[in-house]
Amino acid sequence: MPQWMSQRLRPYQASIFDTIGQLARAKKCVNLGQGFPDFDAPETAKEAACRAIRDGHNQYAPLGGVPKLTQVLHEKRLEETGLDYDPHAEISVFCGATEAMYAAITAICEPGDEFVVFAPVYDTYIPCVELCGGRAVPVPLEPPGWRFDPERLRAAFSQKTKAIIVNTPHNPTGAVFDREELACIRDLCVEFDAVALTDEVYEHLVFDDAEHLSLAAFEGMRERTVTISSTAKTFSATGWKIGYAFSPPEAAQAMRRLHQFIAFAIATPFQHAMAEAFSQRAVLLPELNRLLARKRDRLCRGLAEIGFKVDPPRGTFFALADFSPFSDQKDMDYAVELLQSDVSVATIPISGFYPPGLEPATNYIRFCFAKQDRALDEGLAQLRLLGRP
Ligand code: PMP
Ligand code: GLN
Repeated sequence: MPQWMSQRLRPYQASIFDTIGQLARAKKCVNLGQGFPDFDAPETAKEAACRAIRDGHNQYAPLGGVPKLTQVLHEKRLEETGLDYDPHAEISVFCGATEAMYAAITAICEPGDEFVVFAPVYDTYIPCVELCGGRAVPVPLEPPGWRFDPERLRAAFSQKTKAIIVNTPHNPTGAVFDREELACIRDLCVEFDAVALTDEVYEHLVFDDAEHLSLAAFEGMRERTVTISSTAKTFSATGWKIGYAFSPPEAAQAMRRLHQFIAFAIATPFQHAMAEAFSQRAVLLPELNRLLARKRDRLCRGLAEIGFKVDPPRGTFFALADFSPFSDQKDMDYAVELLQSDVSVATIPISGFYPPGLEPATNYIRFCFAKQDRALDEGLAQLRLLGRP
């Protein structure tokens, strides 16, 4: 029999989102697990996609992206950060933030290079680093507040450090890195001559007085940062997979070198549609923000009334709930029990975001609140079956 799974791939399991997603579909439960909105992209975006298809934008897009999209991204970035990225040489479109991050890691990683990551960590970063022959060095974010200890971060840097990967707003904790934290990261990058790869896919989902800050805008960071984002969450269209990166031109060249062998072009009509959506950002972005802030409050208030310990997140569309008042089980066992019992609600256990060997806080499950009010209320009603803790 052929051996289909190479040695390199064998250490990696199916992702926690797939595992829980499959159980959720088999059980037909209320799915507050995997992070995707159960409501649609704005009409403007959908109409623009249909129009682009009808207007004949159906062949391969340019390698770097459709100019209409990179141009509007240039304007948006300038307006938000004052950073002036060349739409042809410094802005690149990828198959989601996922491919952009893979391309950025592959572009720079030599065997033995170290990449500092914060744990809990989004599930793709460490496998990408390891598949490129690098090593991930995790630094914990600690509750409450999910902040890092600056001394532990410093200890993670060395002459072997090639890069730090920074996800803000942060999945799954909802933490938004503040000016002081980002300045600390900046200082270390400059001191150790390291690169920053930032994942800012939730940049427009920040609430209350929280402010999203882009690390590239800190002094000395533009030339050593690849800023990655995606339209998946910004325009509630995770299935379109339009991601993008702002970077120095040499980095863009290297990332596109890899991209040409993986995908080489990203869905043309959806790039046109996203260009149109971004051109209406002044209306669409605050609308989505207000909608999600209301949903966050609805879910978090309900979870707290039921007896979970929840701090409403400052960003993203996820809320972590501490379930220790109900159970001292491990998070995976608790999440599977919630899903398979009469409660029948799917959530994501936080341990899916920890690399092996790091002792995680295993008393948290993650809820996604980018769901219709009906689904949130139904989920809360089901969770009330748990009774008082
Ligand atoms: N990064 C983070 C932190 C995420 O939560 C997600 C999921 N949306 C992604 C990247 C993937 O983004 P995309 O769908 O654009 O590949
Ligand atoms: N980013 C989404 C989440 O955190 C899901 C991504 C995936 O299914 N791989 O839930």
